[in-house]
Amino acid sequence: MVNAFDGGKLFLLIYKIKEYMTKKILIVEDEKDIARLIQYNLDKAGFSCETAASGEDALALLGRKGFDLVILDVMLPGVDGLEVCRRMRKDTDLTDVPVIMLTAKGEEVDRIVGLELGAEDYMVKPFSPRELVLRVKAILRRRIAVEDVDVLKAGALILDKGRHRVTVDGVEVVLTAMEFKLLALLMGRPGRIQSREVLLNDVWGIDADVYTRTVDTHVRRLRLKLKAVGDLVETVIGAGYRFRQDHEN
Ligand code: CA
Repeated sequence: MVNAFDGGKLFLLIYKIKEYMTKKILIVEDEKDIARLIQYNLDKAGFSCETAASGEDALALLGRKGFDLVILDVMLPGVDGLEVCRRMRKDTDLTDVPVIMLTAKGEEVDRIVGLELGAEDYMVKPFSPRELVLRVKAILRRRIAVEDVDVLKAGALILDKGRHRVTVDGVEVVLTAMEFKLLALLMGRPGRIQSREVLLNDVWGIDADVYTRTVDTHVRRLRLKLKAVGDLVETVIGAGYRFRQDHEN
């Protein structure tokens, strides 16, 4: 006999499988040839894609449909890619949707600002569409892995991954998507030194030692928000950061 609970679980399972199969991706790019090339490669890899040629169109589509990932060109007519990313991060429905920024060669500022705004990754034009597909897959895989974990606790500090919620002594601390990921990662590896490079790679998902200042900025903000328990995130001079292990649980 299938009771309601099993039925619910079965439904969830089917829903999960469906979720794996048809990940929806929004491609925001005003250069038609590039948009077409990206779409062709993502379609071939089994993703379901839609395209937008301006920031306004992108925001309108994002507001209506549940996308799993956004590929976002920085240089767009009207509302540019950085502004789209900024607005996404402020919107509770969109704050968790990963963004891969497309930047023009030499636009280092765009890359840094993009990462500061919470983009997961970036690619510099011209890029290999195959590499882009690999990065899309890696980000979506990481998302699924993160979803599997539960509740992390360190004294008064509790991080609930399922509910995407952080509390200190029961009081909610509002974090950005990146601050949340950073804290989850540090808490998940207590007592272990995490270099800036490792954090960049595992939180933002890129291999780069050039933009390590991004990590420092986020750690600083995170500590400020955590107030009294901010010192749980320790600086290890010359090495990186470490989540303190000597707290009472
Ligand atoms: Ca463009």
